[in-house]
Amino acid sequence: MHTDTETKTAIWTERRRAFVPRGVATYDPIVVDHAHGAEVWDVDGRRYIDFAAGIGTLNVGHTPSRVVDAIQQEATRLLHMCFSVSYYPPYIELAERLAAAAPGDGAKKTLLVNSGAEAVENAVKIARVATGRPAIIAFENAFHGRTSMAMALTGKERPYKAGFGPFAPDVHHARYPYRYRCECADPARCSVESGEDLDRLFATTVVPESVAAIIVEPVQGEGGFIVAPPEWLRTLRRICDREGILLIADEVQTGFGRTGRMWAMEHAGVEPDLMVLAKSIAAGLPLGAVVGRADLMDAPGPGGIGGTFGGNPLACVAALVVLDMFEEQDLVARAGMIGQTIAGRLSAMAARYALIGEARGLGAMQAIELVTDERTREPAKRETALVLERCLERGLIVLKAGLYDNVVRILAPLVIEEALIEEGLDILEAAIADLSP
Ligand code: PLP
Repeated sequence: MHTDTETKTAIWTERRRAFVPRGVATYDPIVVDHAHGAEVWDVDGRRYIDFAAGIGTLNVGHTPSRVVDAIQQEATRLLHMCFSVSYYPPYIELAERLAAAAPGDGAKKTLLVNSGAEAVENAVKIARVATGRPAIIAFENAFHGRTSMAMALTGKERPYKAGFGPFAPDVHHARYPYRYRCECADPARCSVESGEDLDRLFATTVVPESVAAIIVEPVQGEGGFIVAPPEWLRTLRRICDREGILLIADEVQTGFGRTGRMWAMEHAGVEPDLMVLAKSIAAGLPLGAVVGRADLMDAPGPGGIGGTFGGNPLACVAALVVLDMFEEQDLVARAGMIGQTIAGRLSAMAARYALIGEARGLGAMQAIELVTDERTREPAKRETALVLERCLERGLIVLKAGLYDNVVRILAPLVIEEALIEEGLDILEAAIADLSP
């Protein structure tokens, strides 16, 4: 029995608690009614600025009218067919356009699936069949998803792996360059950045001739917006070429213009053999993709890859409009511009508040790492949770990340207006100021 004074939020929150497992965590526990652009309204009419954007899924913003129109039209034409039963044009057109947009000039092909994790699973399958090798190298602190192989590749135990094993064998983790927390004061002498670490892994743990692929996020997303040095990505490419290993770029979070280039690997001028995409590909509709060298993509035999829903017509049509919007509104350049505004404000805050150990990022993928002591760099996990709470109270949806849950990350839609960026950053700064002595 509900009373009149109970908010709709309280009622839905109670129903959610009763019927949705707690394992599906909700980081900003408001109950959303509708959203547009970079703004969200909850069921009680409160308005929020959205710096989470579905964890980087809404680079074109919430409910873009062109995407909504295209989906509505397609819904009356074809809701589902299953590409394994019969072809339909939007899948093929999207496969062509993603192949053309991927880095490099060689022939490419595209597999469409339902999510980032499923794209990761398929990239690994393709790499294994194409090379005839079993092992995969991933990185500490990486996040690749919650399905079985994606969990095995992920390099953070809690909450993603602990208790969910056993995991797929022959997955090996190497260290990822995390300059803020690296023991070497000088990157030029760092064994991670030089590639020595991988050579040690080949000597001690897995011979290179049994490694099918190295999978890497060019900027670790869940890991805390740790930007891979471009030279290190080029080193990975050289090691892969030397050993006949495939390089898989996980651009699920970095993709679709987020970092100021269409793909983050472009900052390093590195062409991966396979690229994994999802999140912002289809304005929030469930879609993932593996785009890669045609010869590799054709390695699995007919029926070896695919699925019932992968490349659903509505999601494909949405993704085609997203690509049009990127071209017509030059959203990649816009990512660079809003990235500069955000980075400028975050650096100024870092200079002002001791709670901020480092401000970092690439393009419109910006974050601050919070520490309780600037010298020891002790992660400020509790304070980070409080900052998010205070932001939400003041009307800003923003997320944490990082191995120690002490990074506040910003993934605002790329279409966000300048005034909303400033308003959101003012809220973030006020929350940080509240917790600063
Ligand atoms: N890879 C990266 C880099 C991600 O950030 C994510 C999700 O956050 C995934 C893979 C998994 O994607 P999904 O949640 O769509 O399965």
